[in-house]
Amino acid sequence: MTETSAVAEAETEKLVAEAAGNTDGASSEGPKFTLELNQDQKDIRDWVHGFAEGVVRPAAEEWDEREETPWPVIQEAAKIGLYSFEALGQFWADETGLTLPIANEELFWGDAGIGMAIMGTSLAVAAIFGQGTPEQMGEWIPQCFGSADDPKVAAFCSSEPDAGSDVSAIRTTAKYDEATDEWVINGQKAWATNGGIADVHVVIATVDRELGSRGHAAFVIPPGTKGCEQGAKVKKHGLRASHTADVHLDDCRVPGACLLGGKEKLDERLARVREGKKAKSQAAMQTFEASRPTVGAQALGIARAAYEYSLEYAKERRQFGKAIIENQSIAFTLADMKLEIDAARLLVWRAAWMGRSGQKFENAEGSMSKLKAGEVAVWSTERAIQILGGNGYTREFPVERMHRDAKIYTIFEGTSEIQRLVISRAISGVHVK
Ligand SMILES: Cc1cc2nc3c(=O)[nH]c(=O)nc-3n(C[C@H](O)[C@H](O)[C@H](O)COP(=O)(O)OP(=O)(O)OC[C@H]3O[C@@H](n4cnc5c(N)ncnc54)[C@H](O)[C@@H]3O)c2cc1C
Repeated sequence: MTETSAVAEAETEKLVAEAAGNTDGASSEGPKFTLELNQDQKDIRDWVHGFAEGVVRPAAEEWDEREETPWPVIQEAAKIGLYSFEALGQFWADETGLTLPIANEELFWGDAGIGMAIMGTSLAVAAIFGQGTPEQMGEWIPQCFGSADDPKVAAFCSSEPDAGSDVSAIRTTAKYDEATDEWVINGQKAWATNGGIADVHVVIATVDRELGSRGHAAFVIPPGTKGCEQGAKVKKHGLRASHTADVHLDDCRVPGACLLGGKEKLDERLARVREGKKAKSQAAMQTFEASRPTVGAQALGIARAAYEYSLEYAKERRQFGKAIIENQSIAFTLADMKLEIDAARLLVWRAAWMGRSGQKFENAEGSMSKLKAGEVAVWSTERAIQILGGNGYTREFPVERMHRDAKIYTIFEGTSEIQRLVISRAISGVHVK
């Protein structure tokens, strides 16, 4: 990876330029869709798979039991360049859109808790990348990762105790202090991955509550800012190697330049909304739709791991004088698991390709991919437990952990119900409630 980091850097610069609108329009036609992976995609897949198999899997049980952030594993990932701005930039840079989901599937095949400890930072990075100016991207994104010798993590804080699915209910406020050119942020964030242990926090706050979600803005809270503290750490059902906690913001003052996108742009947007002009909610929806296949790919990694484990087990385990896979009920279950996983992957790849090549998500194809992959992961891991029988129910075997980990994929990044809401509204044009 080190030898490819120059290429990755160039690609990342190109992406930043694209985000800033400074492109020469060279790729306006977009890449053609193919399911045949190119050599770069195969190399990255094998590279991430090697790390997942050699480093992540052997550590999975320990960090799940410890319920702590696996800093030594993050450091290993940083040392080989996998946990870095350059690697994420390289995954993003693939014009087909497939490399990002492929890398996520492989990493989460290794273990989802550790996978999220490594990939959780990318939520904050995506917000900075999606909403920041080129200067803000250059300043804050590298700080989200730290260095290979001293890796850091970042947190994206949107949810609150009374604002989960309903983001319009966010109460955290940001008030501008003209005298000091600072924003003063107050509120409580809930469920933040890496909350409180992160160097960089990206916080969604309201600058005008009357405007609902159209009055929201995103702020970077720089490392060590006074008034930004970790609250209670959450003890979880699964994904236990990933830290989740409340974040308290008490008169937390950040420089004016920490408002992502800048004040001028915010003021223009608020003026448009107050005049009753249409807000750019379509753009926000496109962004959500484009990030959902990556989350779906993580769920796929868990589902595939459970499928592979139970397939091997079914060939080995003998009852009534034969391998249990010789029973149709077991073999058909495995056939269905493979079928569902492959079908979900096609939805994930389609949505990833659409997002990267700028296609319009007419039918909420991003939501479809996350919904399907999340539900397939929960179903497949439950079936895997069944195939392992009593062993499947114990912590001596990994499928119960996979099942616990999989469940979050029908809850975070939009619950299954919210995905169905988005899809039903998209296909019907009716504001389904
Ligand atoms: C491990 C973990 C990590 C997380 N990481 C982050 C993070 O890094 N940053 C962050 O900001 N948030 C994070 N979250 C929060 C997560 O995004 C929310 O939990 C999620 O959005 C759901 O919100 P909620 O828990 O408040 O559930 P609620 O919104 O209270 O929903 C409860 C139930 O009601 C259903 N429901 C709600 N509204 C409707 C409706 N209109 N129609 C039908 N059904 C509905 C939901 O589908 C769900 O089944 C994390 C959560 C967990 C558990």
